[in-house]
Amino acid sequence: MSLGRLGRLGRMGRICSVLSVLSVLSVPSIAVSQQTTAERTDYAATSSHADVLAFLDSLARAGAGIRRATLATSPRGREVPFTVASRPLVDGPAEAHRSGKPVIYVQAGIHAGEVEGKEAAQMLLRDLTLGALRPLLDSIVLILVPIYNTDGNDGFGPAERNRPGQNGPAVVGVRPNGQGLDLNRDYVKQEAPETRGAAAIIAAWDPDLFVDLHTTNGSYHGYALTYAPGLNPNSTPANDWTRDRMLPELRKRMRERHQREVFWYGNFRNQHPDSLILGWETYDPRPRFGTNWFGMRGRVSILSEAYSNADFRARVGATYEFVLEILRLAATERATIRGLADRAVPLPDSLTLRSELGQARLEDVIAEITQPAGEGAGSFSRRRRTGVYRTIRMPVFDRFQPARREAIPAAYLLPPEHAPLAQLLRGHGVRVARLGAGWEGPTEGFRVDSVIAATGAFEGHREVRVEGRWQPRATSVTAGWFLVSTSQRLGLLAAYLLEPASEDGFVTWNLFDRDLRRGRDAPVLRTRQLPTVRGTELP
Ligand SMILES: [Zn+2]
Repeated sequence: MSLGRLGRLGRMGRICSVLSVLSVLSVPSIAVSQQTTAERTDYAATSSHADVLAFLDSLARAGAGIRRATLATSPRGREVPFTVASRPLVDGPAEAHRSGKPVIYVQAGIHAGEVEGKEAAQMLLRDLTLGALRPLLDSIVLILVPIYNTDGNDGFGPAERNRPGQNGPAVVGVRPNGQGLDLNRDYVKQEAPETRGAAAIIAAWDPDLFVDLHTTNGSYHGYALTYAPGLNPNSTPANDWTRDRMLPELRKRMRERHQREVFWYGNFRNQHPDSLILGWETYDPRPRFGTNWFGMRGRVSILSEAYSNADFRARVGATYEFVLEILRLAATERATIRGLADRAVPLPDSLTLRSELGQARLEDVIAEITQPAGEGAGSFSRRRRTGVYRTIRMPVFDRFQPARREAIPAAYLLPPEHAPLAQLLRGHGVRVARLGAGWEGPTEGFRVDSVIAATGAFEGHREVRVEGRWQPRATSVTAGWFLVSTSQRLGLLAAYLLEPASEDGFVTWNLFDRDLRRGRDAPVLRTRQLPTVRGTELP
């Protein structure tokens, strides 16, 4: 079928019955230029950065009607593209939000060896703009980042080295970006241009949903794909809804519509067949991980993990279908999702600074029975497969609970020499004001009892943990201090980043190192009443 014919069919779609258009378009008739590398090679290979750019160009030439822009330039100079798709096509965030449609941000390839998200994202974009899925674009605004870690993607090498244990393709990219960072540990410190670019788009477009596409590394289970909401215990109504309503509904739809079993992301605590009953455990609640960070912003956040032991074609298929069902559910639940997004994130009485694994509940989990392969039986050990699956009732640990809390103040105050941190907060989308005149009032200072730096390096840092407590101070601050009110949509996130004892805040990532001394106050102050100072500038 010619491209012109495809275009005409698209227009006809508005007047024909959806069914008749679907039956015509379901004929596999995509021109070669509109095939992804995976499709063209029968799933022997995955797309290079140049392949993805060429694919996006070919969609544009075929009249896909997408907007394309640059999210960032990678450390090695590669463009990180993003596309906006909707019908009609919106010209920017204001128009997107005026439309009343949910704005959905989907990101693929943050870990560039995990390649099926990138292929599924391209296929979805094609099918939504030129194919049978076009009507769905009437109800959503889609921001798609098909290849987030471009440098890592083109660090091609043998999969046995770059992704041991992943079931094809034979050649894939590497996990870190061009500066050696794991981009899915960078959301708090934002050292990578990719993170800063994505955060700027997220601040500007304020998406209602965030979806991050990965592949598992660990246990042998019976699911095509596993998923998680934001896991930080500072949950929000949108995150509660995602966990309690949206993800269970997606599970049901994946089973009924696609005959695929999906489940909460996790790993067996022990893969020895006799020890599987010890349980299934999720990963980490800290916002250094993208979906935890986004979940703290009062919006819907979903981690998608295709199963690494499934073959490449099956992983692309499962990821495609899972994202498609997210888009469909977002379209039908738009009122609920927009309602959750419009609601201010209620500030709880206290902020959870540190977390611990919560109580388990008993659930059925499908395990593949495995045999030893020299690596033991730990959660991530490679083992010999048998093809025998068993459904076992076991404790499922899929959420975290508070281990330490703090009261939430009205505001935090940062001295002028911490301008780079004020800038970093703004990068997160937090509103930071600058005092135009001095202010005197009751504050609290954080008296540091101990500073403990990790012995090993992680992502180029030695993570720091401080112990101490807030104590009343009578303080006068000068013009030029930065003021961060917690009465803003990202107030919870701002407090979490600034609290010195936070398990994943600015202290953790060495950003306050210079000023942390035992027996002295940390440089950030907090106050229970919002200072009102004339001349205060907002960004
Ligand atoms: Zn990953």
